[in-house]
Amino acid sequence: MSSKIEIIFLGTGGGRFATITQKRRTAGIRIISEGLNLHLDPGPGALVHSINEGLDPQKLNAVIVSHCHPDHYTDAEVLIEAMTRGMTRKRGVLAAAKSVLTGNNLCEPSISKYHQQMPEQKIEAVPNMKFQVGDVNVLATEARHTDPDAVGFRFETRDFGDFAYTSDTEYFEGIGKYYEGVRLLVLCVMRPAGKPWKGHMTTNDAIKIVEETRPELAVLTHLGMQMIFKGPASEAKLIEEKTGVPTVAAVDGMQVIFGEEIRIETKLKRIQQGLNKFI
Ligand SMILES: [Zn+2]
Ligand SMILES: [Zn+2]
Repeated sequence: MSSKIEIIFLGTGGGRFATITQKRRTAGIRIISEGLNLHLDPGPGALVHSINEGLDPQKLNAVIVSHCHPDHYTDAEVLIEAMTRGMTRKRGVLAAAKSVLTGNNLCEPSISKYHQQMPEQKIEAVPNMKFQVGDVNVLATEARHTDPDAVGFRFETRDFGDFAYTSDTEYFEGIGKYYEGVRLLVLCVMRPAGKPWKGHMTTNDAIKIVEETRPELAVLTHLGMQMIFKGPASEAKLIEEKTGVPTVAAVDGMQVIFGEEIRIETKLKRIQQGLNKFI
């Protein structure tokens, strides 16, 4: 039996205004298991918050970027520099959407050629393709977003089943089938209920996806400014009430322990547990 997987929400903000104000951090998600140290969607702050949380970026063995928007890619190059020990060793995996690696009619490549050639393996992620990073199999899923090459990711672990990350997407017929049977579903819910915006997910869309997939736990992240002001915790409660699926809104620094059980740890709780020993 392999060790549990830690999913650390280094940042939980998303969209232009949450990013430029840093109302929530935009550092992406770190996923760590025995054989894996992966940074998913390293937006602005990924390097700094990684170091501040005591997660050495030089231990990374994978960097994954879902699409060519700055809240998902800006720190990818510096993390590749860390992963390759200052560009001195060919190490690790870079997996990214086509737009990120080669650009498309909307954007230039988001990672330079210089940085793209240093990881040991470079993978262009398109929907339905599978690849392996460390001890985890990854399936690129379909996302429908303003970057037409955007993808989500489904992670298949050896001992504990699957978890997934939708990335930025709107709801579409068939999205649920990509996440069927996952135990943990992380959704990029940028907008609250009743505030739709093309290419993005609202709480109402999240309800439909959660209803179709019924994971053990749903986690909301990539929270936009309107979502932050509305109150992500109450939006999560709404999803839970409508679907019966336990749902939480991530907070910066929150950690999900994914093993036989799925457990949430917040930093505060970790500190409290530490203090309790002395009471
Ligand atoms: Zn985004
Ligand atoms: Zn986006």
